[in-house]
Amino acid sequence: PVVTRFAPSPTGFLHIGGARTALFNWLYARGRGGKFLLRIEDTDRERSTPEATEAILKGLTWLGLDWDGEPVSQFARADRHMQVVQQMLDAGSAYKCFATQDEIEAFREAARAEGRSTLYRSPWRDSGVASHPDAPYVVRVKAPLEGDTIIHDQVQGDVRIRNDQLDDMVLLRSDGSPTYMLAVVVDDHDMGVTHVIRGDDHLNNAARQMLVYTAMGWDVPVWAHIPLIHGPDGKKLSKRHGALGVEEYQLMGYPAAAMRNYLARLGWSHGDDEFFNDSQAQEWFDLTGIGKSPARLDFKKLDHLTGQHMSAADNAALLHELQAYRAAKGFEPMSGTRSAALLQAMPLVKEKAKGFDQLLDKAYFILSDRPLVLDEKAAKALDDASRGILKELTPRLQTATWSRIELEEIVGALAQEHGLGLGKLAQPLRAALAGRMASPSVFDMMVVLGREETLARIADATT
Ligand code: GLU
Repeated sequence: PVVTRFAPSPTGFLHIGGARTALFNWLYARGRGGKFLLRIEDTDRERSTPEATEAILKGLTWLGLDWDGEPVSQFARADRHMQVVQQMLDAGSAYKCFATQDEIEAFREAARAEGRSTLYRSPWRDSGVASHPDAPYVVRVKAPLEGDTIIHDQVQGDVRIRNDQLDDMVLLRSDGSPTYMLAVVVDDHDMGVTHVIRGDDHLNNAARQMLVYTAMGWDVPVWAHIPLIHGPDGKKLSKRHGALGVEEYQLMGYPAAAMRNYLARLGWSHGDDEFFNDSQAQEWFDLTGIGKSPARLDFKKLDHLTGQHMSAADNAALLHELQAYRAAKGFEPMSGTRSAALLQAMPLVKEKAKGFDQLLDKAYFILSDRPLVLDEKAAKALDDASRGILKELTPRLQTATWSRIELEEIVGALAQEHGLGLGKLAQPLRAALAGRMASPSVFDMMVVLGREETLARIADATT
């Protein structure tokens, strides 16, 4: 069975690159009936904060990337990491190094002076000395000195690293704490991780982590190191590009489904498919579809996909997500009556909306109380002449049965009597009903608002 994991370091918010990594792992596991695990890599005690863990969990939750079981704390597993170090010492695949910082520095200086590699070679490696009273030590892996280490990477292909380029990396620091490089291997092994999908900034680490797998005789997971995300200008993503944190996308009003679709396409492709839902993505996602070059952020594409997802979304689910969006922005919850009206109007207002703000704008006609505050364009559309004509609508609407066809006929007839095109009358009517010129069609609004409210708004606008 497939087991993937997302292993963020809790040192800040969930950034867009991390979210994409999480998504790829989630898609891979979910599409194969596997497990998607979450491990918080909190071994760096100075930089790790509970707030960051909280923010990461919140970001994943918003994105809809559910993980299996409880999140694992890497720091909490330190005893197990030390146990593995002991096993490696016993097996002779690791050794205690009593060299002081000064000695290491002196080694490097001499190497530089003689033009040799500055990779540290510890004299304790083959000394056979297992204890040295009162002297602090680190534990190092015994890396092979000859040959190559090959990473079979699903994205990058076979990556060959000469073993003489690998130093005897530290597994246990002199204060007894395990290093990240050791912990990540032990945890992936213990958690049964079969596939590691992560940023290609970890590719070099993979070669060193391989040493631990080999020393312990453990199966190496399938590795897929994915190219990082770049900004729209093709440069490495940075603050200057804006919107690095996932919660910023939430606050900009992008629905999570659109975000998942967009992030999935960021560096992965499936033929010409751009717009898809979760089950399609889970079915299609594969490591072979991951590109070798960095993907670029493209807000136009995100907007476009958002419009498609909004149009296709289930109305009740969309309303639910909209309420969460408003709550995240600090708005008061909507009344039950309003929610019900909005749900009814959802097919009208969700169409191609490029985010929840646009949707709310189109829904303004049901979300605001009389008398409406007209925006500038709407006020302009209600000039004296138009108001005069609109007034004539009132008696005709009073006797209408309120079917959409009938309303169209009534308004159409009135326009014709005045020698106007339908649009010429629909504009002031729109202004009166919606208070702004971007809204659903006037007839749809009238149906949703009902007779009483429609007449009251016309009266507000014409008296
Ligand atoms: N904790 C590492 C990071 O946040 C991830 C390491 C891994 O995925 O193996 O970059």
